[in-house]
Amino acid sequence: MIQFEHVSKRYDQGHDALKDVSFTLNAGEMAFLTGHSGAGKSTLLKLIMLMERPSSGQVTVAEQDLGRLSRSGIPYLRRSIGVVFQNHQLLSDRTVFDNVALPLHISGYSPEDAARRVRAALDKVGLLAKEKMNPLALSSGEQQRVGIARAIVHKPKVLLADEPTGNLDPQLSQEIMRLFEQFNRVGTTVLVASHDVSLISKMRHRMLVLKEGRLIGDE
Ligand code: ADP
Ligand code: ADP
Repeated sequence: MIQFEHVSKRYDQGHDALKDVSFTLNAGEMAFLTGHSGAGKSTLLKLIMLMERPSSGQVTVAEQDLGRLSRSGIPYLRRSIGVVFQNHQLLSDRTVFDNVALPLHISGYSPEDAARRVRAALDKVGLLAKEKMNPLALSSGEQQRVGIARAIVHKPKVLLADEPTGNLDPQLSQEIMRLFEQFNRVGTTVLVASHDVSLISKMRHRMLVLKEGRLIGDE
C-alpha cells in the first residue's frame, strides 16, 4: 500500500531530513514510525500525503507512483488517505458533527449520505452522544477522537497519524492507540508516528525506526 524506494528529502536550506529510506507497508498492515524529534517522521508522512516532494527516490501509495501523479490526481490520492494530527486542528466555530462532516462536504456527498457516514464515524470513536457539542467543550482525549472520526469518515485505505497522543496522559494515549488498532482490524492500513517508545513497544506492531533521516530499524 505504501512503498518507499531509496527516498531522500533535502529541504531548501540544505538539511537532509530523509536519507535513502526504503520500506514497504502492505495493505492491511499496521506500523509505528519512531525516532527522536527531528529524525524525519513528519517529513516521511508528508511525502505520503504529497505535502512535500522527495528530492530523489520513488514513493508509491495505493499503487500510484506519486512522482507521476498529475495535478488532477492529487485530490483523489488525498481522499484515499486519512490524517490525524497531534493538535486536532478542529474548528471551534462549529459542532463536533460539522467538524467530522467537513471532508465529506468538500467531496460533494449529499447531506443524507454525509449524515449517515458522520454518525457511523462518531459511533466508532464512542462520541455519538456528543455530536451537537462544540469541540472546545470536550476533553483533550475526546477532541483527539473527533479528529480520528474526521480522518476515517470517508473510509480511507490508509490512516496516517503524526504524534496523535502528544498531549495525552498514558491511559488516554493507550485508548487512542487501541482505536487505531480497531480500524486496522477492519482492513485499514495504518502508519502512526510516535516518539513514545514506552507506549508503542507495548503494542506489538511493526516498528520503523528513524535516526537522523536514516531508517535504522524495522522490528
Ligand atoms: P520529526 O517529525 O521526526 O520530528 P521532521 O520530519 O519534522 O522530524 O524533521 C526532520 C528534519 O528536517 C529536522 O531537522 C527539521 O528541522 C527539518 N525540517 C523539517 N521541516 C522542514 C522545512 N519545512 N524546512 C527545512 N527543514 C525542515
Ligand atoms: P508538478 O507541480 O508539475 O506536479 P512538482 O513540483 O510537484 O511538479 O514535482 C516536481 C518533480 O519532482 C516532478 O516532475 C517529479 O518528477 C518529481 N517528483 C515529485 N514527487 C515525486 C515523488 N513522490 N517521487 C518521485 N519523484 C517525484
